[in-house]
Amino acid sequence: MVQTTTSQTESRPTPTIEDYLAVIYVMERDEDEIIAARLAESLEVAPPTVTVTLKRMERDGWITIRPRTSTTKKTGRAGEQGKNIRLTRKGCEAARSVIRRHMLTEWMLARMLKVPWSRVHAEADQIEHTISDEIETQMRTNLDDPQLCPHGNPLPGYEHLAADWLALTGVLLGEKVIIRRIHETAENNHELLEFLETNGIVPGAAAEVVEVLSFNQTVSLRLGKKNVALGFPIAKYIFVEKVT
Ligand SMILES: [Zn+2]
Repeated sequence: MVQTTTSQTESRPTPTIEDYLAVIYVMERDEDEIIAARLAESLEVAPPTVTVTLKRMERDGWITIRPRTSTTKKTGRAGEQGKNIRLTRKGCEAARSVIRRHMLTEWMLARMLKVPWSRVHAEADQIEHTISDEIETQMRTNLDDPQLCPHGNPLPGYEHLAADWLALTGVLLGEKVIIRRIHETAENNHELLEFLETNGIVPGAAAEVVEVLSFNQTVSLRLGKKNVALGFPIAKYIFVEKVT
Protein backbone atom coordinates (compact mmCIF):
# COMPACT_ATOMS: atom_id res chain seq x y z
CA MET A 1 0.00 0.00 0.00
CA VAL A 2 1.24 3.43 -0.87
CA GLN A 3 1.47 6.00 1.88
CA THR A 4 0.25 9.18 0.22
CA THR A 5 0.19 11.58 3.13
CA THR A 6 3.26 12.63 5.02
CA SER A 7 3.40 13.91 8.58
CA GLN A 8 4.26 17.36 7.31
CA THR A 9 1.13 17.65 5.17
CA GLU A 10 -0.96 16.29 8.05
CA SER A 11 0.23 19.09 10.31
CA ARG A 12 -0.91 21.64 7.78
CA PRO A 13 -4.25 23.43 8.11
CA THR A 14 -7.16 22.20 5.99
CA PRO A 15 -7.53 23.62 2.43
CA THR A 16 -10.27 25.97 3.65
CA ILE A 17 -8.09 27.35 6.42
CA GLU A 18 -5.16 27.66 4.01
CA ASP A 19 -7.38 29.79 1.74
CA TYR A 20 -8.31 32.05 4.65
CA LEU A 21 -4.69 32.33 5.76
CA ALA A 22 -3.53 33.38 2.28
CA VAL A 23 -6.18 36.11 1.98
CA ILE A 24 -5.50 37.37 5.52
CA TYR A 25 -1.75 37.45 4.77
CA VAL A 26 -2.26 39.67 1.71
CA MET A 27 -4.63 42.01 3.60
CA GLU A 28 -2.26 42.28 6.54
CA ARG A 29 0.67 42.95 4.17
CA ASP A 30 -1.08 45.65 2.13
CA GLU A 31 -3.68 47.26 4.33
CA ASP A 32 -2.70 46.38 7.87
CA GLU A 33 -6.34 45.76 8.66
CA ILE A 34 -8.43 42.61 8.32
CA ILE A 35 -12.08 43.30 7.61
CA ALA A 36 -14.38 40.28 7.93
CA ALA A 37 -16.74 41.63 5.29
CA ARG A 38 -13.88 41.85 2.79
CA LEU A 39 -12.77 38.33 3.69
CA ALA A 40 -16.29 37.08 2.96
CA GLU A 41 -16.25 38.83 -0.42
CA SER A 42 -12.80 37.60 -1.31
CA LEU A 43 -13.47 33.99 -0.31
CA GLU A 44 -17.00 34.05 -1.72
CA VAL A 45 -18.62 32.83 1.47
CA ALA A 46 -21.37 34.26 3.68
CA PRO A 47 -20.30 36.61 6.50
CA PRO A 48 -21.68 34.32 9.26
CA THR A 49 -19.50 31.50 7.86
CA VAL A 50 -16.46 33.76 8.09
CA THR A 51 -17.25 34.55 11.72
CA VAL A 52 -17.48 30.87 12.61
CA THR A 53 -14.30 29.96 10.71
CA LEU A 54 -12.31 32.84 12.27
CA LYS A 55 -13.30 31.60 15.74
CA ARG A 56 -12.09 28.12 14.83
CA MET A 57 -8.84 29.56 13.50
CA GLU A 58 -8.32 31.47 16.74
CA ARG A 59 -8.95 28.30 18.75
CA ASP A 60 -6.39 26.41 16.65
CA GLY A 61 -3.76 29.11 17.01
CA TRP A 62 -3.62 30.44 13.42
CA ILE A 63 -4.85 33.93 14.29
CA THR A 64 -5.50 36.16 17.27
CA ILE A 65 -8.71 38.17 17.59
CA ARG A 66 -8.64 41.15 19.92
CA PRO A 67 -11.22 43.84 20.49
CA ARG A 68 -10.25 47.07 18.77
CA THR A 69 -11.32 49.26 21.68
CA SER A 70 -11.64 52.72 20.14
CA THR A 71 -13.38 51.54 16.98
CA THR A 72 -15.74 49.29 18.91
CA LYS A 73 -16.84 52.17 21.13
CA LYS A 74 -17.25 54.56 18.23
CA THR A 75 -19.27 52.26 16.02
CA GLY A 76 -20.94 50.36 18.81
CA ARG A 77 -20.68 47.24 16.69
CA ALA A 78 -19.94 43.89 18.16
CA GLY A 79 -18.94 42.06 14.95
CA GLU A 80 -15.48 41.60 13.42
CA GLN A 81 -15.63 45.20 12.21
CA GLY A 82 -14.60 46.11 15.73
CA LYS A 83 -12.03 43.34 16.09
CA ASN A 84 -8.37 43.29 15.35
CA ILE A 85 -7.42 40.10 13.52
CA ARG A 86 -3.74 39.14 13.27
CA LEU A 87 -1.88 36.10 12.03
CA THR A 88 0.10 34.29 14.70
CA ARG A 89 3.64 33.27 13.86
CA LYS A 90 2.40 29.78 13.05
CA GLY A 91 -0.43 31.27 10.94
CA CYS A 92 1.98 33.51 9.08
CA GLU A 93 4.31 30.60 8.26
CA ALA A 94 1.39 28.49 7.03
CA ALA A 95 0.15 31.40 4.88
CA ARG A 96 3.57 31.92 3.32
CA SER A 97 3.81 28.22 2.61
CA VAL A 98 0.48 27.98 0.76
CA ILE A 99 1.11 31.21 -1.16
CA ARG A 100 4.49 29.84 -2.31
CA ARG A 101 2.92 26.54 -3.39
CA HIS A 102 0.17 28.47 -5.21
CA MET A 103 2.60 30.65 -7.14
CA LEU A 104 4.93 27.79 -8.04
CA THR A 105 1.91 25.81 -9.26
CA GLU A 106 0.88 28.76 -11.43
CA TRP A 107 4.33 28.72 -13.08
CA MET A 108 4.27 24.96 -13.52
CA LEU A 109 0.87 25.14 -15.25
CA ALA A 110 1.95 28.07 -17.41
CA ARG A 111 5.38 26.82 -18.45
CA MET A 112 5.03 23.07 -18.57
CA LEU A 113 1.38 22.59 -19.45
CA LYS A 114 0.93 25.87 -21.37
CA VAL A 115 -2.26 26.69 -19.49
CA PRO A 116 -3.36 30.22 -20.50
CA TRP A 117 -2.20 33.05 -18.22
CA SER A 118 -5.79 33.95 -17.30
CA ARG A 119 -6.51 30.39 -16.08
CA VAL A 120 -3.46 29.40 -14.06
CA HIS A 121 -4.63 31.13 -10.87
CA ALA A 122 -7.98 29.29 -10.70
CA GLU A 123 -6.37 25.95 -11.57
CA ALA A 124 -3.60 26.44 -8.99
CA ASP A 125 -6.24 27.14 -6.32
CA GLN A 126 -7.30 23.49 -6.61
CA ILE A 127 -3.83 21.94 -6.68
CA GLU A 128 -1.82 24.04 -4.20
CA HIS A 129 -3.11 22.27 -1.07
CA THR A 130 -1.89 18.84 -2.10
CA ILE A 131 1.75 19.70 -2.81
CA SER A 132 4.25 18.34 -0.30
CA ASP A 133 7.29 20.28 0.88
CA GLU A 134 9.49 17.90 -1.07
CA ILE A 135 7.67 18.56 -4.36
CA GLU A 136 7.68 22.28 -3.58
CA THR A 137 11.47 22.20 -3.39
CA GLN A 138 11.67 20.34 -6.69
CA MET A 139 9.30 22.81 -8.31
CA ARG A 140 11.43 25.70 -7.10
CA THR A 141 14.56 24.21 -8.63
CA ASN A 142 12.92 23.19 -11.88
CA LEU A 143 11.25 26.56 -12.30
CA ASP A 144 14.52 28.47 -11.63
CA ASP A 145 13.44 29.81 -8.25
CA PRO A 146 10.86 32.41 -9.34
CA GLN A 147 10.51 35.53 -7.19
CA LEU A 148 7.23 36.73 -8.74
CA CYS A 149 4.15 34.79 -9.83
CA PRO A 150 3.02 34.91 -13.49
CA HIS A 151 0.81 37.88 -12.52
CA GLY A 152 3.77 39.75 -11.03
CA ASN A 153 2.89 39.24 -7.37
CA PRO A 154 5.89 38.65 -5.12
CA LEU A 155 6.52 35.30 -3.48
CA PRO A 156 6.73 35.70 0.32
CA GLY A 157 10.12 37.18 1.13
CA TYR A 158 10.39 39.06 -2.18
CA GLU A 159 7.91 41.87 -1.43
CA HIS A 160 10.66 44.48 -1.89
CA LEU A 161 10.67 43.74 -5.64
CA ALA A 162 7.20 45.28 -5.95
CA ALA A 163 7.84 48.24 -3.64
CA ASP A 164 8.46 50.87 -6.32
CA TRP A 165 5.68 49.88 -8.70
CA LEU A 166 2.80 52.34 -8.93
CA ALA A 167 -0.92 51.66 -9.22
CA LEU A 168 -2.15 52.73 -12.63
CA THR A 169 -4.52 55.21 -10.96
CA GLY A 170 -1.46 57.19 -9.85
CA VAL A 171 0.16 57.54 -13.28
CA LEU A 172 -0.13 60.79 -15.24
CA LEU A 173 -1.28 61.43 -18.78
CA GLY A 174 1.46 60.89 -21.36
CA GLU A 175 3.64 58.69 -19.14
CA LYS A 176 5.17 55.54 -20.56
CA VAL A 177 5.07 52.46 -18.36
CA ILE A 178 5.79 48.76 -18.23
CA ILE A 179 2.99 46.61 -16.80
CA ARG A 180 4.48 44.74 -13.81
CA ARG A 181 1.76 43.33 -11.63
CA ILE A 182 -1.93 42.40 -11.43
CA HIS A 183 -2.65 42.41 -7.69
CA GLU A 184 -3.71 39.16 -5.93
CA THR A 185 -7.17 40.61 -5.25
CA ALA A 186 -7.84 40.96 -8.98
CA GLU A 187 -6.60 37.43 -9.72
CA ASN A 188 -9.90 36.02 -8.43
CA ASN A 189 -11.80 37.80 -11.20
CA HIS A 190 -11.53 35.41 -14.11
CA GLU A 191 -13.42 37.64 -16.57
CA LEU A 192 -11.06 40.48 -15.79
CA LEU A 193 -7.97 38.29 -16.30
CA GLU A 194 -9.31 37.14 -19.66
CA PHE A 195 -9.92 40.75 -20.67
CA LEU A 196 -6.40 41.76 -19.63
CA GLU A 197 -4.85 38.79 -21.40
CA THR A 198 -6.81 39.44 -24.61
CA ASN A 199 -5.67 43.05 -24.57
CA GLY A 200 -2.05 42.25 -23.76
CA ILE A 201 -2.15 43.90 -20.31
CA VAL A 202 0.23 41.38 -18.74
CA PRO A 203 3.55 41.72 -16.89
CA GLY A 204 6.30 42.95 -19.19
CA ALA A 205 4.02 44.75 -21.66
CA ALA A 206 4.87 48.34 -22.62
CA ALA A 207 2.07 50.92 -22.53
CA GLU A 208 1.42 54.64 -22.60
CA VAL A 209 -1.24 56.50 -20.66
CA VAL A 210 -3.20 58.31 -23.39
CA GLU A 211 -6.26 59.52 -21.50
CA VAL A 212 -7.27 60.05 -17.88
CA LEU A 213 -10.90 61.04 -17.28
CA SER A 214 -11.31 61.59 -13.54
CA PHE A 215 -15.02 62.50 -13.88
CA ASN A 216 -15.55 59.21 -15.70
CA GLN A 217 -13.17 57.22 -13.44
CA THR A 218 -11.25 55.82 -16.41
CA VAL A 219 -7.67 55.64 -17.56
CA SER A 220 -6.83 54.63 -21.13
CA LEU A 221 -3.69 52.85 -22.21
CA ARG A 222 -2.15 52.50 -25.63
CA LEU A 223 -0.50 49.15 -26.19
CA GLY A 224 0.99 48.96 -29.66
CA LYS A 225 -1.76 50.30 -31.91
CA LYS A 226 -4.60 49.48 -29.56
CA ASN A 227 -6.24 51.72 -26.94
CA VAL A 228 -7.81 50.10 -23.88
CA ALA A 229 -9.91 51.95 -21.29
CA LEU A 230 -9.89 50.72 -17.69
CA GLY A 231 -12.10 51.89 -14.81
CA PHE A 232 -10.35 53.13 -11.66
CA PRO A 233 -11.70 50.18 -9.58
CA ILE A 234 -9.69 47.89 -11.90
CA ALA A 235 -6.76 50.23 -12.55
CA LYS A 236 -5.96 50.39 -8.83
CA TYR A 237 -5.03 46.70 -8.96
CA ILE A 238 -2.67 47.09 -11.94
CA PHE A 239 0.85 48.13 -11.00
CA VAL A 240 3.39 49.56 -13.40
CA GLU A 241 6.96 50.73 -13.57
CA LYS A 242 7.50 54.16 -15.09
CA VAL A 243 9.87 54.32 -18.03
CA THR A 244 12.14 57.30 -17.70
ZN1 LIG B 1 -0.56 34.76 -9.58
